[in-house]
Amino acid sequence: MLQEKRPKILCVDDAKLNLKLLESILVPEYEFQGVENGETALIQAAQPPSPDIILLDIMMPDMSGFEVLKKLREDEKTRLIPVVMITALRETEDRVKALEAGCDDFISKPFEKAELLARVKSLLKINYYRQQLDERGKFKAVIDKMSEGIAVCGPDWIIKDSNAAVLKYLNIADPANVNLAETLFKNYSISIPKEQLMNFKTFDIVREEIETAQALYLEANLDALKNPAGELSNIVFTLRDVSAVRREEFLKQNFLGLISHKLRTPLTIILSSASMFARGEISSLNEEQQKAINIISKKSFLLLGIVEKLIGFVMIYGQNPDQPKEAIELKARISLITDSIIKRFKDKKVELNIDCPEDAKLEARKAYFDQILGNLVENAVKFNVKDITKVSIVVKKILQEVIISVADNGPGIPSEEYGHIFEKFYQVEKNFSGQVEGMGLGLALVKKLIEREGGQIKVESKLGQGSTFIFTLSV
Ligand code: ADP
Repeated sequence: MLQEKRPKILCVDDAKLNLKLLESILVPEYEFQGVENGETALIQAAQPPSPDIILLDIMMPDMSGFEVLKKLREDEKTRLIPVVMITALRETEDRVKALEAGCDDFISKPFEKAELLARVKSLLKINYYRQQLDERGKFKAVIDKMSEGIAVCGPDWIIKDSNAAVLKYLNIADPANVNLAETLFKNYSISIPKEQLMNFKTFDIVREEIETAQALYLEANLDALKNPAGELSNIVFTLRDVSAVRREEFLKQNFLGLISHKLRTPLTIILSSASMFARGEISSLNEEQQKAINIISKKSFLLLGIVEKLIGFVMIYGQNPDQPKEAIELKARISLITDSIIKRFKDKKVELNIDCPEDAKLEARKAYFDQILGNLVENAVKFNVKDITKVSIVVKKILQEVIISVADNGPGIPSEEYGHIFEKFYQVEKNFSGQVEGMGLGLALVKKLIEREGGQIKVESKLGQGSTFIFTLSV
């Protein structure tokens, strides 16, 4: 059976007889170590595992107990070990001197067994709390030096504890009685609606550029801590400055937009010239030439599709939600979107099933909704290589939310990829063949737009059987 570690007690006394006596009293309960002079005591005390208590005789030749104690208190490794001075004298002067040198308790010779054991026991307890406090002190010092901001709030969002960085980032002079959620939504642009705050683990906080400072982009993380009864007890809020990353992203987006626009014009010309050739409008072609020009037409059409998708992505992804929300009749809108997609995949046999209440409505930005559903349905068809592609769309309204699922009977997605497929430019490698149009932007856009509308998306999938994307939007 595993035994709990016994506390270690180092006894320092030049009188062998006293050491023997101490050993006989302490050994049944503690790990005993006896040394006869101060020098050996200092070496032993500094060696890990350090003793939990030192019993130190005052009157010793060479180095007195006072000197040993002073040295113990000066050394980082031994400064916190409780020391009990053993004294034959009851003189106040001695005690004052010992206290000044940093001793924790006294015991007088001759030892009284019960008294000695009681002293040791209570000091062990005090030592435990002292170590805890010391650890907390160190912990607080480290937290305060961190560049990440950390605040702990109660369930009402009132700040209970905070480090220097979080106060600096959020420009809070005095955290007493500050409601963190209110401060955030009052002074900053937040990437999610206030009512949805507790539904998100991560979100962005932006302080717009001001005359004296560049824009500040902060990534916030929330951890809701619950008590044993399952009630929310604390909210741990962390902040990281991601300004440099966001600025770079922004430049990249602009660059992508620029390149795409530059590519579109020559591509359109190539495509229209190739089509004229292919139709025989420029000169008659032999069979070989016809084949080649058909390939050029087909591939440049594909390329143009990619470039247009890229432009659309850059435009919508980078934009602020300035479009107004409008009422969307879901059944009609879904039919419209799916029809136009299915028409584009002429060589696929698609079986579509839409299960949507006639009166289902949504208050949302139409362009966003079209992109969200359009991308999901396009993926459901595009990645499917079965003879018959089955796509099933189910709409349910629960309280103030609509839940929409788009299911297919396609290849499925490995579960380890669930977290990645919503990243920009990510394509599950197996599906990444030159045959599949796309660049891994669809789902990144879908997720971003859903979150802008205050909703969430998740995927469930079985390899070889199909995938279901489920998302929510508030009505
Ligand atoms: P793209 O813009 O290229 O279509 P997405 O971002 O939409 O890419 O999707 C990312 C990856 O997720 C795809 O490369 C594909 O591997 C996988 N994926 C997305 N939807 C489906 C689906 N319905 N069935 C199987 N795989 C899918």
